[in-house]
This record gives sequence, C-alpha cells and structure tokens, in this order.
Amino acid sequence: MRLRNITGSREVIAGCDYVIHEPQEHRGQWREVFGNDHPIRIEIGMGKGRFIMDLARANPDINYIGIEKYSSVLLRGIQKMEADPLMNLYFIRMEAEEITSVFAPGEVERIYLNFSDPWPKDRHAKRRLPSREFLQRYDEILIPDGVIEFKTDNLELFRFALGELEPAGWQLEQVTEDLHHDAQMMQGNVMTEYEEKFSSMGNPICKYIISR
Ligand code: SAH
Repeated sequence: MRLRNITGSREVIAGCDYVIHEPQEHRGQWREVFGNDHPIRIEIGMGKGRFIMDLARANPDINYIGIEKYSSVLLRGIQKMEADPLMNLYFIRMEAEEITSVFAPGEVERIYLNFSDPWPKDRHAKRRLPSREFLQRYDEILIPDGVIEFKTDNLELFRFALGELEPAGWQLEQVTEDLHHDAQMMQGNVMTEYEEKFSSMGNPICKYIISR
C-alpha cells in the first residue's frame, strides 16, 4: 500500500506516543514497554491498521505491535488510535527485513501477514514476506510453538508461500483457498482492509496457519 506522500507525516509520527521510535533498544525487553508479561503478537505490513486495532480491542490480555514501512500509511493508524486509544497496541515504522534486530529469540508469540506485497518478479522472491528467507527470520523470533497466519487473495503468491514451507522447516496446521466459505477457518475471522475490498470484488481469500 502506498498513499500519496502526506506532508508532515514523518513529523507527526516522530511526536507520537503510540509509535516506538527506537525499536532496537527494546530488543529482549518488550514486556517492559507494555508493563506486563502478556504474549506479544505482531502484524507485519499492517497498512492502515484496522485488523490489528480490532484484535487489540477484542483481546486486552494480549499485546500487539503493528509494523509498517511507510509513514504516510502508518499515519492513518495513528489517527485511528488518537480517536480510540488502546493500551495494548504499539506501532513501529520499519522494514520487515530488520525484524530480528527488534525482537529477541522467543519474544513473539504469533505473526500475522495480511495481503503482503506480491513482488511478482522471480528475482524479487526474497522480498516476499512469506518467502523462506523471511520464514528463517520469523523462526528466530517466535516462541517454539508460535504460529504464523497468512491471508491473501493472490493465488500465485499463496502457492509460492506453500512451496516455501517444507524447505524452510515449517508445516501446515490449517489451509484454505476460499476462507469465506470455510466455516471452521472463518470462526472468529477478523477482516483486514484489503480483505474487505478484495472479497467484495468476488476474489476468494486464501489463508494458512503454520508452525514448525
Ligand atoms: N495488512 C493490510 C495492508 C496490506 S498492503 C491489509 O490487509 O489491509 C501491504 C502493506 O505491507 C503495505 O502497507 C506495505 O507498505 C506494507 N509492507 C510491505 N512490505 C513491507 C516490509 N518489508 N516491511 C514493512 N511493511 C511492509
């Protein structure tokens, strides 16, 4: 997601308490940021943040961190937080490639990837968030029985993601290529902004849940 550059969005973010500005400094100490020892779940590529805000509101005993690389996009999440502050949610503006410098081994309980950028060219496969290179990074930060949940309407990206599991040492727990018609996997489903947009256009939504 890229929004028109919004003048001053970097300045707004710099002064915002909902954003963690030097995330590397909290590596291994995220519990202190939240002031409790609740599990930490993160969304990588949160966009405008609707999904993670809905989760945080519904689950006050779980801590959430939303990660987004573009300040113009993150700004929308901040504006929503100002209208409806949540104590168990923080945002980080960063590139997901740096994730292991921000979280220590076993510090994250669950990772959500929603409608990740497809990077369709073969030479960019390593940049895809469900690629084996990223699975290796997630392996470093997740607790031993941590899981990753991935949703997309891009069947090509989804099939690629399925093919990355075995080489990277991950296994499928649950999978569907039509989430909205899968009664079991739909239980408790929280829609993302892209999910609403693409499903209303008639695109089936794919989802997997994986573990090591
Ligand atoms: N998860 C949201 C947005 C999906 S669009 C939803 O489902 O509605 C994908 C988002 O991921 C974009 O906002 C994009 O800027 C962000 N993103 C893509 N690659 C990223 C990366 N490497 N690090 C951090 N954010 C990334």
